[in-house]
Amino acid sequence: MNVEKRDTTISSKEKDDDLDKFVYMVSHDLRSPLAAIQGMVQLLNEDYRDVLGPEGEYYLERINVNVVKMESLINDLLKLSRVGRFELPNERIDVNSLVHKIVNEYLEQYGLDRRVIVVDELPSVFYPREALKDVFEYLIDNAFKFLGDQEEPRIRVGFQKKESHHIFFVKDNGIGISQENSEKIFKVFERVRDIDSKGNGMGLTLSKKIVEYYGGKIWVESTKGKGSTFFFTVPVAEAELNEI
Ligand code: ADP
Repeated sequence: MNVEKRDTTISSKEKDDDLDKFVYMVSHDLRSPLAAIQGMVQLLNEDYRDVLGPEGEYYLERINVNVVKMESLINDLLKLSRVGRFELPNERIDVNSLVHKIVNEYLEQYGLDRRVIVVDELPSVFYPREALKDVFEYLIDNAFKFLGDQEEPRIRVGFQKKESHHIFFVKDNGIGISQENSEKIFKVFERVRDIDSKGNGMGLTLSKKIVEYYGGKIWVESTKGKGSTFFFTVPVAEAELNEI
């Protein structure tokens, strides 16, 4: 009997797609019960404040803090599973104004003086806007977050032009990363344990997934205790080459 052989091996791309679909569904479905918890906490706070007393109020506040944490985790998981699932259009982005907007938000959030950060003259690129915004946000947020107790904190956002790609970088003189951790930190949920980070350990994983999906690379050069520079590349698009 001639039995036709079928190829039943599942490629790693298919496995990744299935995993992305699964993460997408789970995180999507977790959103509504979480919103319900948030709503109930708010009602308890408004209607039962007097009955609860200070201890009860403290418990509610802790629930809230954790709900917000979970919300950010779910949103980042959703973003992670979405990279490449939906075709985002390339558009011309004035990186200068994008970065200045992000920097202003974080300066305010971290209560730091404008002199802490220098932004070089940055070019325009063709890229999906939300994707580029996410990468700069994660890297700039980290630069602020990991300044440590540096007396003269300094951050610089800069760029180098190569023939086929732009290299952007975010440099800080913060706590730095040891050699052994500098690859690990791009893996999901990996954080260096000796620091108390308020993040969820997903920013660099997401940045890597975005940058690589759009044909670039991301890496860090760092010395522990002296600071870090995160680099990522953006391919020079056909449209840009035609403009030259
Ligand atoms: P999160 O910042 O939410 O913890 P990330 O994926 O953005 O997650 O970063 C992972 C880990 O990499 C951080 O917890 C921290 O240990 C390390 N890290 C990232 N950026 C920096 C930086 N600029 N300086 C020092 N350590 C950093």
